Amino acid sequence: MAEKFKAPRGTFDVLPEQEPVRSWIHDAARRALRAAGYGRIETPVFEDTDLFARGVGESTDIVQKQMFTFEDQGGRSLTLRPEATASICRAYLEHGMQTRAQPVKLWTDGPFFRHERPQAGRYRQFTQIDAEAIGSDSPLVDAEMIVLANDILAELGVEDVRLRLGSLGTPATRSAYLDELRSYLRSRENELSDDVRGRIDANPLRAFDADHEGTRKVMDEAPTLLERLDEADADHFDEVRHLLDQNGLNYELDPTLVRGLDYYTRTVFEFECKRLGAQSGIGGGGRYDALVEQLGGPATPACGWALGVDRIALALEQTEGGKLERRDGVFVVAEADERQRALALVTRLRRAGVTADLDLSDRATKGQMKQADRVGARYALILGKGKATLRDMTSGDERQVDPARVAEEIAD
Ligand code: AMP
Repeated sequence: MAEKFKAPRGTFDVLPEQEPVRSWIHDAARRALRAAGYGRIETPVFEDTDLFARGVGESTDIVQKQMFTFEDQGGRSLTLRPEATASICRAYLEHGMQTRAQPVKLWTDGPFFRHERPQAGRYRQFTQIDAEAIGSDSPLVDAEMIVLANDILAELGVEDVRLRLGSLGTPATRSAYLDELRSYLRSRENELSDDVRGRIDANPLRAFDADHEGTRKVMDEAPTLLERLDEADADHFDEVRHLLDQNGLNYELDPTLVRGLDYYTRTVFEFECKRLGAQSGIGGGGRYDALVEQLGGPATPACGWALGVDRIALALEQTEGGKLERRDGVFVVAEADERQRALALVTRLRRAGVTADLDLSDRATKGQMKQADRVGARYALILGKGKATLRDMTSGDERQVDPARVAEEIAD
């Protein structure tokens, strides 16, 4: 027998029964972002490799190890997008959006690709909802965006969410701080793990993430970037915090918050769901005031975030009462000699915009009622000789209705 195929390692199929919760997440985000003036943008799923190398940063894990890069037939190096920000900044510049009223607020959602070690909640193809506000350095932007992400998660009912907040300062402060941190790490080199020691030059901040006991002890006493912010950055950060307080957000200050992308400046934040175990990050982002310029544009401050749809769906599965009990539409139940009438009725309902379905497998009436339940119909409409009964599938209540008026009957 021929060998059967499986979805590639680290990828998965979304089956029809798993789809409603995902649509619900996308819909909640779409509504909230539209209401806040974000316009949807769609960018290609692949881009020139250099865009990510320059945009995400040469020293990041993403660029060094995780990109799905391929050569096209013309010998160009292309990469499946590992994140959205670089692409959106590229589009902002390509379409001259710096001439529009600033900031330009954009959002997108779709698949992203990173060659990571697969595990629960960590995939090689995953789905993000992404929002970016490009062209303003106001702390209002940072606060607005964090509140938006927070409110989307709250509306979805994700529980046990923790918001961690930090600031990385501007590139100058950060580079001075990184030098200080490198010297500090070198001064205690023999206490560090091999891995951290090997990356002192490339990425000393990563030492804060280490599990290695000796390294952790060294890092407990390490200088933090928050303590080194210059006055303008510290004021900016204070204002962001003040605005978050005003909007009733709870957050934890994390002076060692490190994100896996190089482009962040000033505010950074991460949303975690404690129920998710090791892969607990359900969203994150921050300000990236230097990126647009790095990609060849004028100096343009910006801020953005990404929410991880797959992990939010996992979190909702683990939330009591968070399961979607959303019944919708009508399932028409009919005896064999009423099938033609049933299809005509279903067609009429569908044309009127009502979700409607019928048995297509010659089931007995009892089997059709089961099917109505299985497909998640809100109502069953049982067609009998000369009458029709509308049954509420949740409460079990039944009433006689005129089949011609079903759409109106269920509208309320
Ligand atoms: P990042 O783009 O790394 O800031 O990630 C933003 C969010 O996307 C994270 O908080 C995760 O929820 C999600 N995410 C990132 N990488 C993966 C992955 N490999 N698998 C599933 N979700 C991911």
